[in-house]
Amino acid sequence: MNSIARFSDNARGAFYWGFLCALREQHKQMSLLHVLIGLQAANPKILPPADLKKMGFEPLDISDLSQIQSEMQKLQMQSQLEAAQEGLGAANDSARAWGFGFPLLENAKAALRAAASCADAFGTRSIGAAHLLHGIFVTDAALAEKLRGANWTDVKIQTLCREYRDEQEGTVALDAFEMMRPRITRCGIGYDLHRLEAGRKLIVGGIELPFDKGPVGHSDGDVLAHALCDALFGAAGLGDIGSHFPDTDPKWKGANSLLFLEHARKLLDEKRIEIENVDAVVILERPKLGPHFPKMREALAKSLGVSSEKIHLKAKTNEGVDAVGRGEAIACHVAATLVSR
Ligand code: MG
Repeated sequence: MNSIARFSDNARGAFYWGFLCALREQHKQMSLLHVLIGLQAANPKILPPADLKKMGFEPLDISDLSQIQSEMQKLQMQSQLEAAQEGLGAANDSARAWGFGFPLLENAKAALRAAASCADAFGTRSIGAAHLLHGIFVTDAALAEKLRGANWTDVKIQTLCREYRDEQEGTVALDAFEMMRPRITRCGIGYDLHRLEAGRKLIVGGIELPFDKGPVGHSDGDVLAHALCDALFGAAGLGDIGSHFPDTDPKWKGANSLLFLEHARKLLDEKRIEIENVDAVVILERPKLGPHFPKMREALAKSLGVSSEKIHLKAKTNEGVDAVGRGEAIACHVAATLVSR
């Protein structure tokens, strides 16, 4: 989604100052040159005034802010009035689609699109001043030539874009942007089974249950945590529990499996994937699990950093059939739904 909400404070500044530049020149539409001059005014650290002079353009005089404010209001009202009379507003629907209140010439719009593609290519949600400079560079050959004359190269701009981070140019209205971005739903399944032996602790969903048998395993043998971990890894395309916590590694001997879930959550955070829903079925002949579900949901939710409302647990017996039915094993199935933006 491309809109003004995606622009960093510094990139948005380029449009405000560029608009002033256009109005002062009595233009009713903003050209790419206006955007460039605005970009310089809003980002003197990236594009110093001297560079603009080398290109043969005069930097915008923005020394008296209060005077500019009243000047802009006056010019803007005048411009809007004239634009309305000439029907220019309706002709600039595509500029409005970006959320800009002022008309843009075709080359300025093309530069916006190029800036947005550049931000996408480098994986940032916001569009910064560097992306905008790239947009100008690739859209207008004459301006690109002048930029080269001021020692700007494609490599130099690409480096700025590569180093750009979402938060570096002020707060961007990313919340609004996030809302507009399509959400991708991902589903994962996980399954686990552990043999039960006398004298071991029975831990399910991070909670120790009073019972005379418990799972045999390298870690604490928590089937619910293990199957859940696998469902999360599967949905996120992160492999499986064995690849992250090998049972040959002494580090995980007797480990609390909730640590696995905390680790999984960190990996999901890095990939900007959220947990939407977890649905689990634990299969065990005895003891009854239902009374312990509230505590289990709380423990799992805490490890995953989500509300316990997102964790759903069910218990089944195996009707006396097979190893689980004979009380020799505990098994668990989990389905997880995640969303990424
Ligand atoms: Mg296991």
